[in-house]
Amino acid sequence: MDDQGLYAALVQRGMTRRSFLKFSTAMAAALALPVSYAPRIAEAVATAKRLPVIWVRAQTCGGNTESFLRAADPSISTMLLETLSIEYHESLLASAGAGTELTRTEAMARYPEGYVAVIEGAIPEGASGAYCLVGGRPVRDVAREVCDGALATIAVGSCAFDGGIAAANNALTDAKGVRGVVGDGTLITLPGCPMNVVNLTSVIVHYLTFHEWPPLDQRNRPLSVYGNLIHNECERRPHFEFGEFALSWGDEGAQRGWCLYKLGCKGPESMGNCPTARYGAGVSWNVRAGHGCVGCVMPDFWDQMGPAYKRLPAPVPFLPNVTTDMVGAAMVVGVGAAAGVHALGMGVRFKRRARNERREALAAAEGVAVAEAVDALPPDEVTADAAGTAPEGAPVVTPVADVPDPATAEGDSPTGAEVR
Ligand code: SF4
Repeated sequence: MDDQGLYAALVQRGMTRRSFLKFSTAMAAALALPVSYAPRIAEAVATAKRLPVIWVRAQTCGGNTESFLRAADPSISTMLLETLSIEYHESLLASAGAGTELTRTEAMARYPEGYVAVIEGAIPEGASGAYCLVGGRPVRDVAREVCDGALATIAVGSCAFDGGIAAANNALTDAKGVRGVVGDGTLITLPGCPMNVVNLTSVIVHYLTFHEWPPLDQRNRPLSVYGNLIHNECERRPHFEFGEFALSWGDEGAQRGWCLYKLGCKGPESMGNCPTARYGAGVSWNVRAGHGCVGCVMPDFWDQMGPAYKRLPAPVPFLPNVTTDMVGAAMVVGVGAAAGVHALGMGVRFKRRARNERREALAAAEGVAVAEAVDALPPDEVTADAAGTAPEGAPVVTPVADVPDPATAEGDSPTGAEVR
């Protein structure tokens, strides 16, 4: 390791004591530690020596390298990271070809006390690893070699976390995350597309301060970074509570900074510190900038968190394969069917009622016997009898059309509609 203290290197690069203390306080916050830890962090970082880093790129778009490089001024994270001893990074080295390979192997040999291995990108296993070669060798073999001699491996970004987009929809390269490919040594994962350089910095500062890596969850993610729901820290959360939602991009709600949940924000389903750490030297993050969270920090996010502009259906407790949307659809169908059956029953009932009322009207006008006779006949024949075809001696039946139909009298129909 370099024999120059880290603070001395930072001062050489123009950092003031005040900025350094601010940095220590910010790191305490990023590590979810009380602010009282800031002096301890400052002291540890001030006397620490630079950590050598070997950075290997696999199947990746390079977004994490971009994030790393764009921890731009006035970020003090940049100051710290610039003072890391980056021994090997394919995108940053001036050399190429066999010379670059030599740089990596020499760096590994130069630091017998250990170095930090950073892996960016997914590791393809398909075709014996032929989908991604470094110096003519599968990157899987190179990564294993580098990680074997490391103090710790830090897998940066969603692709290194679990394969990311390279593994989405059963992609043909059989891409995997770093976990499971590079052995069981200390592995720290920093998912995100891309990872936030503040989180990479905080992991390193934790090691420099406490001489151990930060506590991790079961997927090797630092709890200080991935222990909270994004939704809980979001600045738009009060609008969620008040039911104030943007309903389309650019509408009044969107312009007023209302909650983006109805436009597909995945903040309620995603764990991370994006609202507090932010990107771009702490200036902003996607929800603050007006776009919903896409859940890029979550496992299998390309397959599990999409589509980006649609809400995720909420799972029903104890029924892992059933969602509330499915329950809602089933209820709509059920209620619709019940309404149909009810309407049918009501129609039959109204018809019967109308027929009974006509019968009662006839009985009142002509006598019960006639009503019974009418009751035995189809309605059309009743009228025909009244026209003169009734048996001799039978009372004349008044045509139904001439009898006031009580069912159609005003206010008598339950629906107010004419009943025939
Ligand atoms: Fe939650 Fe997203 Fe709304 Fe923020 S914008 S409160 S993260 S749903």
